[in-house]
Amino acid sequence: KAKRLGKNQQCLYSEEMGIQEVRKMELEKDLQRALELREFFIVYQPKWNVRTDRLVGFEALIRWRHPRLGVVSPLEFIPIAEETGLIIPITRWMLEEACKQSKAWQERGIIQPVSVNLSIRLFQSDNLIELVQHVLEMANLKPHLLELEITESMVLHDVNEVIRQLGSIRALGVKVSMDDFGTGYSSIGLLDRIPIDALKLDRLFTNDLDTPSKRAIINAIVLMAENLNLDVIAEGVENKEHIDFLTELGCHVMQGYFYGKPMDIHEIDIWIYEHEHKVEETGFFEDKKV
Ligand code: C2E
Ligand code: MG
Ligand code: MG
Ligand code: MG
Repeated sequence: KAKRLGKNQQCLYSEEMGIQEVRKMELEKDLQRALELREFFIVYQPKWNVRTDRLVGFEALIRWRHPRLGVVSPLEFIPIAEETGLIIPITRWMLEEACKQSKAWQERGIIQPVSVNLSIRLFQSDNLIELVQHVLEMANLKPHLLELEITESMVLHDVNEVIRQLGSIRALGVKVSMDDFGTGYSSIGLLDRIPIDALKLDRLFTNDLDTPSKRAIINAIVLMAENLNLDVIAEGVENKEHIDFLTELGCHVMQGYFYGKPMDIHEIDIWIYEHEHKVEETGFFEDKKV
C-alpha cells in the first residue's frame, strides 16, 4: 500500500514539475519580445525617514504584464532574464525610465532619488559605467538622484572587479546601496572596502524583532554602519510595532507596506498628492548631516 501511495506521489510530483517547466519555457520564450511589446512597467515604492517625517526617495521595481498569465513577479522572471542575458537590455530600460521619472518629478518640485536594482551580469558586461553615465546624460539628471542597489552575493562573486566598478560609479556621484543585507551571504569582512553609501536591512530582520537576541543583531549592524559612515534603511516595514523597534535600535529610514506599497505611475501620483508637504525635500543621503 505504501509503495502504491509512494508511486502516486511521485507521479503527482513529476506532473507538477512538468507544469512548472512548461511555464518557465513559455516565460523564457515570451521574455525575448516583452521589451519591444512594452509589456514591462515600473512600480515605485517610497522610502521614508521617520525622524524627519519626510520622503527620502523611491525604489523602482519592475513588473511584467504577460498577455496570458497576467502580472508576473520579478522573483520569477529576473532569474530567467539573467540566464538568457536579457537582463542587460531590461536594466538599461529600467535605468532610462527611472532617470526620466526622477527628472519629471524634479520638474514638479519633487526632488527625490530613484533607485534601480542591478544584477551581477551588469558588472560582467564591461560597460556599466558608460551605461550609467549615458542614461544620466540622456535624462539630464544630476548623478546624486540615481541610486543603484546591489547585493552581497554580487560582491562576493568577483570582489575586486565589483569594488573597482562601484568605485567608478560612485566617482560619478551616483549612490550605491547594499540590498537584502544580512541574509545568506556575508560580506561583513569586506564592508570597509566596498564603496557603498547605505545598507538595506533585509525584510527578514524587520519581521523577526521579537527576541532580544535578534534586536541585538540589528543594534550591532546599526552601530557598525554608523562607524563606517553608512546609512541604514530597513525593508519590509509593515506596522507600528516594526517602526517602534527599529527606531529604538537607531534605524530611522524605512521602506515597506506601512508607508506605501510599490505603486504604478498613476497610484504614485495620488500617493504623492496625499503626502504633498512631506515629499518636496530631498535626502536620505543628505540626512546624515541633520
Ligand atoms: P528587493 O530589491 O529587495 O525589493 C523589495 C521587495 O520587497 C519588493 O518585491 C517589494 O514589493 C517587497 N516589499 C516591499 N515592502 C514590503 C513589505 O512591507 N512587506 C513585504 N512582505 N514585502 C515588501 P518585488 O517587487 O516582488 O521584487 C522582488 C525582487 O526582485 C527585488 O527585491 C529585487 O531583488 C528584484 N527586482 C525587482 N525589480 C528588479 C529590476 O528591475 N532588476 C533586478 N535586477 N531585480 C529586480
Ligand atoms: Mg532593492
Ligand atoms: Mg531589498
Ligand atoms: Mg529584499
